[in-house]
Amino acid sequence: MGTAGTGTTTRARQAGTRSTTTPAAPAAPSTTTRDRTTEPPPRTAAAEPDSYTRRVSPSSPIRAARGVRDILPGERAAWALVERAARETALRHGYQEIETPVIEPVELIERGVGSDSDAGGKELYRLEPHGEQDGREAGEQRSRLVLRPEATAGIVRAYFEGGLNQGPQPVRLFTLGPMFRHDRPQAGRFRQFYQFDVEVIGDPSAAYDAEVIEVSWGWLAGLGLEGLTLDLNSIGDHTCRPAYLERLREYYGPLRDRLHPDCQRRFEENPLRLLDCKEARCQPFKAGAPKITDHLCAPCAAAFEEVKSLLDAAGLEYRLDPFLVRGLDYYTRTVFEIQHEALGGAQNALGGGGRYDGLAAALGCPDTPGVGFAGGIDRVVTVLEGERGTVQPAAAADLVVLPMDEGLDRAAAQVGRLGRQAVPTAVDYSRRSLKAKMRSADRAGARRVAIMNSDEAARQVVQLRNLVTGEQSEVSWDDLPGALR
Ligand code: AMP
Repeated sequence: MGTAGTGTTTRARQAGTRSTTTPAAPAAPSTTTRDRTTEPPPRTAAAEPDSYTRRVSPSSPIRAARGVRDILPGERAAWALVERAARETALRHGYQEIETPVIEPVELIERGVGSDSDAGGKELYRLEPHGEQDGREAGEQRSRLVLRPEATAGIVRAYFEGGLNQGPQPVRLFTLGPMFRHDRPQAGRFRQFYQFDVEVIGDPSAAYDAEVIEVSWGWLAGLGLEGLTLDLNSIGDHTCRPAYLERLREYYGPLRDRLHPDCQRRFEENPLRLLDCKEARCQPFKAGAPKITDHLCAPCAAAFEEVKSLLDAAGLEYRLDPFLVRGLDYYTRTVFEIQHEALGGAQNALGGGGRYDGLAAALGCPDTPGVGFAGGIDRVVTVLEGERGTVQPAAAADLVVLPMDEGLDRAAAQVGRLGRQAVPTAVDYSRRSLKAKMRSADRAGARRVAIMNSDEAARQVVQLRNLVTGEQSEVSWDDLPGALR
């Protein structure tokens, strides 16, 4: 499930009234990454003509673009844990992995995410046409390309394009990968970030809504995270929502002049979005606004009851939030969001999702129901490390081969190959002293070293030393794999 499409970037900004609380954010997992991404916003457009990148002087080293970051090995261990949990949870529920391109035609995103939403509009990374290859032939219209801001539209496209709609239904899919939004970088908000995305396409049953929520919750709870909250709402469908929107307009009509200018615009363009306004001056009005759950048609109300009873049966606690909404027409019925208490301000959601029964038709495909979830890996890693501390990465190599003399590279490479039959093995080809090599292997977390001088190489033996106990013994090359096991 991708961006909510209410015109906001993240679902975090859609959750009703709670966003005024700003608990302290957990410690960032790595100062290296945090320093690079939470830099101050650009002062003015004139001061920073190219806001994708930083200003560089010819003498300074080139740094990563603004709002993006490297996941260095020290932090990658936590990422691997989070990704593995996502993959295992999805597979355990019968979801199949899919990869879709990070570049998509602009029309897919504009129609699928909404060109009036931030993620599908001003935050979209548009790719420059590619020189001659993009040269148009007479009368030919070529699609411009963008970097995907979310995965759902691409997955629904692939479902039809790849013929998955012809097989057994529904189709359960998941993906893990980078998304791109040109938003203002800040803690918890990056321009390249990573999502775990699950989708069930091809069946309108509310039971799949509950299943997707269970998968999402199972992923996060399975990581041992505490402080999670599940918010739930239904936003009706094309039968009941128009009448509700009329009531909303009737309610807000007399208040219009007192609303924030953005909300005055929302009143005209998309009144549902009045409910996810975070402006202090609009909050008192919101509190008295009619609730959509009081105006659901019978099938939507029954579907909502079904979702709730299935969540009850699964032992999943949820909070009903009548202001959790999304603004595009093709979103229907269930909307949910999972928050973590440690994430503050507007970036408090770990993920969210809902039903999108009108999306396929909006993309020009046959009318097909779907429901999904998108969770932010970056934020999950942050709260995970905040709760349980840094996840220690495995040592790069368990064994390091240390040739002592010149001319032993070939022999050392051979010992390396033998070592690798048993454990992760690296060879230190540097021309440093043995003492320096030993220290380096120790600091890198190796448990053993295989030391070898020219004489030993000629005899095809090594001195196998345990760096933890200090024990050392001579081992023949042939016996090395066995001695390491
Ligand atoms: P959305 O697709 O906007 O509903 O976002 C789903 C989840 O993706 C959010 O709850 C966040 O955890 C994550 N997310 C969205 N945008 C960003 C971003 N710019 N940086 C980091 N994580 C993000």
